This record gives sequence, C-alpha cells and structure tokens, in this order.
Amino acid sequence: MLSYEQTSSVTSHQQLDTYAWFSQRAWVEINLSALSYNVKQLLRILSPRTQLMAVVKADAYGHGAVTVAQTVLESGANWLGVATVPEGIQLREAGMKAPILILGATHTPEQIHAIAQWKLQPTLICPKQALVFSNTLEAINSETPLPVHVKLDTGMSRLGTNWQEAAEFVQLVQRLPHLTIASIYSHLATADSPDPTTMKQQQQRFEQAIAQLRTIGIEAPCLHLANAAATLTDKALHYDIVRVGLAVYGLYPAQHLRSSIDLKPVLQVKARVTQVKTITPGTGVSYGHQFIASDELHLAVVGIGYADGVPRNLSNKMQVLIRGQRIPQIGTITMDQLMLDVSALPDVREGEVVTLLGTEGKEQITAEDWANLLDTISWEILCGFKHRLPRVAVT
Ligand SMILES: *Cc1c(COP(=O)(O)O)cnc(C)c1O
Repeated sequence: MLSYEQTSSVTSHQQLDTYAWFSQRAWVEINLSALSYNVKQLLRILSPRTQLMAVVKADAYGHGAVTVAQTVLESGANWLGVATVPEGIQLREAGMKAPILILGATHTPEQIHAIAQWKLQPTLICPKQALVFSNTLEAINSETPLPVHVKLDTGMSRLGTNWQEAAEFVQLVQRLPHLTIASIYSHLATADSPDPTTMKQQQQRFEQAIAQLRTIGIEAPCLHLANAAATLTDKALHYDIVRVGLAVYGLYPAQHLRSSIDLKPVLQVKARVTQVKTITPGTGVSYGHQFIASDELHLAVVGIGYADGVPRNLSNKMQVLIRGQRIPQIGTITMDQLMLDVSALPDVREGEVVTLLGTEGKEQITAEDWANLLDTISWEILCGFKHRLPRVAVT
C-alpha cells in the first residue's frame, strides 16, 4: 500500500493517474498548497506578538502528521501540538526541530524518559504529576531543566488544575528541580458557539489566575488559551500562542466564523469505480436490501467503505461527485465498498474516479456536509481517514 514515504514523488494528479488504476482503489489527496495557504491566512490575523501552534494530533486530523508538520512549519507556524508521546516522537524521528507540546496527560516514568530524550514539552495538570516529573528527572540525573506547560481548568472540566488554585500550583512547579515553566494555558469549552458568554467567563477566570500570580511576583513567561474557533473569533483571546487545529485543515469551526477568514479544505477523498451493471426494477442493493430499485437502474460499485473512513450511517444519504455531477449513493455502505445510482451518467466506466470529499468543477462536498448529515462535527469525520487509505500529496 502506498504511503507518503512511497509517494513523496507523486505531486500531481497526472502522475497519480500513471499508477495502474487497480492499485489505487481509493486514496486521500492532501493539498499542500491549500495547507500552506491556510497557515498564511491564519498568520495574517495574528499580531506580531502571537505565535502559531499547528495542532497535528491524531495523525494531523487524518491528514498525515509528518507531511503536514513539514509544510506548516515551512509556511510559518512556530509550534506543533500533539496529544501523546508517540505522536511527538514520530515528528522528532522525521526530523522536526520545532518545539512540540504534548496536549494530553503524561504520568509514567517511561513517558517522562521519552519526553526528556526526544525534547518534547509536557502539559502539567496537577501537583502530584509535577512531583512525579521532577522525581523521575532527578533519578536520571537530567541536567537541563525540562520546559513544562502549566494547564489550568477554567471551565472545560477536562485536564488541569482549577484556576482558583493556580498560584499554589505554579509556585510548587517553580520550586521543583529539573522543571522550568514555559507557559501557562487553558482550553475553551464553547469557543465555537455564537453566544460568547461562557467563553468570556473562562477568559475572565484565566485573567484572574494570571493577576493572582502577578500579586505574588510571578510573571508567566507565555500564555495561551485559543483553539481555532477562538482564534477566528477575537484577537483578545490570542495571547502569546494560538493552538489551531481544524482551521489549518481548511474547515471552519462554526458557520458564523465563515466570514472571518478565507480557508481551503486540504483533504480530498477519492475512489474508483470497480464495476458497473444494470439492475431491474424490484432488485435490492447491498446488505439488508435497504435500497430497492423502483426502475431499471445503472449501478456503479466503488472501492471504498466504512473501514476506510466513510461512515456507515451515511448509507442512502450521501452523494459523491463524478465528472462534476452529484450522484446518489444507494444501499448500505459496506466495509470496503459502496454502490451508486449512476443512471444520470449511464456511460460511467470501470476505473473512473469518484470524489467522495472534495471539489469537482462547481460542486463541492465537505467534511462539514457529512458531519451535518450525521449530527456530528467535521473534526470526527477528518479523523476517520487516519487508518487505511494511502495518502498522496498534491500541490
Ligand atoms: C485539539 C486541541 C486544540 C485544537 O482544537 P481545534 O478546535 O481543532 O482548533 C487546541 N488545544 C487543545 C488543548 C486541544 O486539545
């Protein structure tokens, strides 16, 4: 199966088409120009004081962490954000030099050793964990202090120390050997809502914590609070770093933020028609015969299914693009294949390219469209493509 490494020379549709069509039943195209464009658009709305952290956790939201990290850093991002230690190591092994923040929790000596060895930067969430870090680094005689990022919980009720206990926590971390505070941060729960009330409350709590620290003579070296939605909402939320995921990949965190910036979707999902046939009225299609042809119908089988990241709950609801035209999917989506009603294009041939997510001519189908059909969010749709399909970088 093709991977980035094996396809790094494939940079255009032209070259991709030179592959035998049967070796490419389905694939993901990652548009590096769009990725670079999005980073530059984001940088335009940041003040010079603010750095851009591109969040590349979960294999860069299904886009491929290494290629994405390379491109975003070349385009002006300063930081990388990951969720886990292995995600950070993968980027270091690929030669990434930028600072890498682990947004998730880390506790075990094995994780701490790896963090020190690979020069990753952990999130500190509570006094107990801070002590484990300091003791573990003491035990391995770590000489240079490890930069750590203190996480405050201002209302997300996920990781972090309660904002009212910020002073004690920060003082403790400051006193511990082998650690140096690189930043103090928090995470917003409702930044994508058009109603800013809760977000403002979280920001006030963050400000209160910082003010409290100042009264005891502690000046935080660096502050950050904003995810993509907050970054697009209000400059006052930017502080020293913004941690942007979704918008880097060209999607909007919310409808009301569409006007804030121009973004281009980076990921496209494509597959090929593997068989075409005509079925007679009354014929059932796919498992459970959830679709029955009412008239004679031209059917195309496509080599992509739910194991590839096409959610099964889109069965009988989704459309695809062929030759720039919207074509309905019919019957239950199976693990590796799905069927289309191509009666509108009766001369569709085996080997023809089908766009499941992406643009053809004037038509576009986005992860957001799928998310709307499924009552979920585009983040979850994108992450569905991190497992099985080969990825091809295009420009
Ligand atoms: C995932 C994550 C982000 C990025 O979120 P987007 O909404 O995709 O911008 C930022 N900060 C933290 C702590 C995260 O876990």
